[in-house]
Amino acid sequence: MKKMIEISNLSKSFPSPGGEEKVNVFCGANFTLEQGESVAILGPSGSGKSTLLNLIGLLDKPTSGKIVVGEKDLSSLSDREVAEYRNQKVGFVFQDYTLFPNMTVKENLEFALKKGQSQDDINELIETIELTNLQDRKPETLSGGQKQRVALARALVQKPSVLLLDEPLSALDDEMRNKLQDYVLKVHKKYKLTTFLVSHDISEVFKLSDYVIKLENGSILKQGNPEELFLDKKTTGKHKTTGTILSIKNSDVIKII
Ligand code: ADP
Ligand code: MG
Repeated sequence: MKKMIEISNLSKSFPSPGGEEKVNVFCGANFTLEQGESVAILGPSGSGKSTLLNLIGLLDKPTSGKIVVGEKDLSSLSDREVAEYRNQKVGFVFQDYTLFPNMTVKENLEFALKKGQSQDDINELIETIELTNLQDRKPETLSGGQKQRVALARALVQKPSVLLLDEPLSALDDEMRNKLQDYVLKVHKKYKLTTFLVSHDISEVFKLSDYVIKLENGSILKQGNPEELFLDKKTTGKHKTTGTILSIKNSDVIKII
């Protein structure tokens, strides 16, 4: 049987800044995914995308509801198991690179090694993510795209099974973003990760994702595969657009018009 990730009746509330009313996110969200899937999370600012990633990565605890990964119910873990899960099972990449500025690329990766882990794991990642020429440089000498490659490699040092990407590509220009997408796709497949990517870019979603979760105001508006969500015949018939095509670019499996 395939291993699943099951989210049931998930909700999270935050105290509001003024203290009167609570901010409620995901009142009773449900979805089931297969491990190894690549999931895009879409939605306007403030819709709960980061909150959802933080709950899945155990950076934060749900107010109620359950997240089950494989056979593990994450809400039943002890504090020690939570820390272990967060460090070893989950890789996080954020929009700001959060690299240590005083360390070289290689040292940044080595810092993430757990006790007794082989240096070979770092060497393999340096090769996979093509960091050989950058490994002795400090982050301040790298471009945004290069830093994000290092952050991606670092997130994978402890061989996580879940990769959480919170808008890591949003600050990059098109060319850089395209390259990074290729690395994300490569590691997703090579390391058989379950990948969650917060994205605003539909071509990126088509390129990288098997499944889409669309949020609005802290609840799930729609979910399904990208074709179902974006190319629904019923809706495309209703929403006709007129315009002038300026260019058609090939971008791997899709064309950007
Ligand atoms: P997104 O990542 O989609 O922009 P977030 O998940 O960051 O959205 O936020 C969802 C909602 O939860 C917003 O209304 C936000 O203000 C609120 N929120 C998030 N984190 C906190 C927090 N630590 N304290 C209070 N409110 C929060
Ligand atoms: Mg966010």
